Amino acid sequence: MMADLGYAATNDPASADMILLNTCSVRGGAEEKVYRRLANLRIYKRDGKKQIIAVGGCVAQQEGDELLRKLPYLDLVIGTHNLHLLPDMVRGAERGERRSETTFIDNEQRLDLFPSIKGESRLSRFVTIMQGCDNFCSYCIVPFVRGPEISRRSADILTEVRQLADDGVREVILLGQNVNSYGLKSENEPSFAGLIRKVAEVAGIDRIRFTTSHPKDMSDELIACFADIPKLSGQIHLPAQSGSDAVLKLMGRGYTRDSYLDKVSKLKSIRPDLVFTGDIIVGFPGETEPDFEQTLSLMEAVRYIDLFSFVYSPRPGTKAAELNDDLPKGQKMNRLDRLMELQRRHTREISQTYIGKRMSVLVEGEGKLPGQVSGKGDIGRIVNFIGDNSLIGTFVEVKITKAYPNSFLGEL
Ligand code: SAM
Ligand code: SF4
Repeated sequence: MMADLGYAATNDPASADMILLNTCSVRGGAEEKVYRRLANLRIYKRDGKKQIIAVGGCVAQQEGDELLRKLPYLDLVIGTHNLHLLPDMVRGAERGERRSETTFIDNEQRLDLFPSIKGESRLSRFVTIMQGCDNFCSYCIVPFVRGPEISRRSADILTEVRQLADDGVREVILLGQNVNSYGLKSENEPSFAGLIRKVAEVAGIDRIRFTTSHPKDMSDELIACFADIPKLSGQIHLPAQSGSDAVLKLMGRGYTRDSYLDKVSKLKSIRPDLVFTGDIIVGFPGETEPDFEQTLSLMEAVRYIDLFSFVYSPRPGTKAAELNDDLPKGQKMNRLDRLMELQRRHTREISQTYIGKRMSVLVEGEGKLPGQVSGKGDIGRIVNFIGDNSLIGTFVEVKITKAYPNSFLGEL
């Protein structure tokens, strides 16, 4: 969108005509961080320099006009449903107008407003298939700042995927807060499993990933895709959040420990080499030591190759923010440390099992060391190996020779 207005990217904030902070508010401290960053960016605007400063994303949505009121040097605040207004807002700001737009847009209208992706050729691209979320997990701010869930039209998604394939993209990552509920609210759209099958038919796209998958909506139809769609990646992100039924209930996640583990074992039996990644929150209000131990034992049962772990952070307006968050900070940190220690062991043990095995790698660029190229293996991890730059853009088979905490070393 900015390119259409005649703008180009720069790495030098001092010379930029516009700086836009794209923000996240999923955990606390985000607002303060934005205010701090804006205060630092302000120095570039001194001496009467005409520079546009803008804030977008979830903090913009949450704070709205308040940001403009508090910060006289801020020009634009653009909410999560208002990206289509960006060109008009930028033109206005060039004439000295200050503006904040954070109104949520009607669902039908939103379907026509998905920004289309162009420019910047890369081999792996995200394709947004849905926006927003209706789940209202008790700790989560996403439904408040991203609005209700809508699924993009499958015809639009497929047009975009075909366009990307024509531009040389080889891998797509289908993106949404809960991709598993794709299409469920519409009679005319396929289910998520149906959508994957259609994307898999696009020639040129040879690997498909998706995120995020909510365990409660993981259907048998979707699980079956892992058996017969070879393009589907060998890794799935399936956030459990906790291993304790009592905590899962308070979180409003809509599944139990057993039903989660049941889906994991179905997936493992249908595709034994599938690897799992996940998200866990520690220190949710009322989480007892036995609850936390249930989470550790769930990790032992699943054995994630990688895990994103977070200390619970109360978010304004959410149901959990009303609960008594009285667990001492030291105890929360202690649980996080223990959890991360266990995860480091699992990551190490699982990665070691790949040594000597072959892996399909999409070569995406030069590697860390001279003479090396680098790409992502089927299980989503980076693989570096000695190879010619002419391999970039192709899938090759690489034998894994060494496992590091976040990557592999291999041989072509
Ligand atoms: N839609 C995805 C799902 O349901 O799994 C996750 C979206 S959220 C942006 C990413 C992760 O942030 C969540 O899976 C959760 O672990 C974490 N998260 C969300 N709210 C949080 C909070 N209030 N405190 C700590 N972690 C939180
Ligand atoms: Fe947040 Fe994900 Fe729950 Fe939606 S499903 S409320 S995005 S954690």
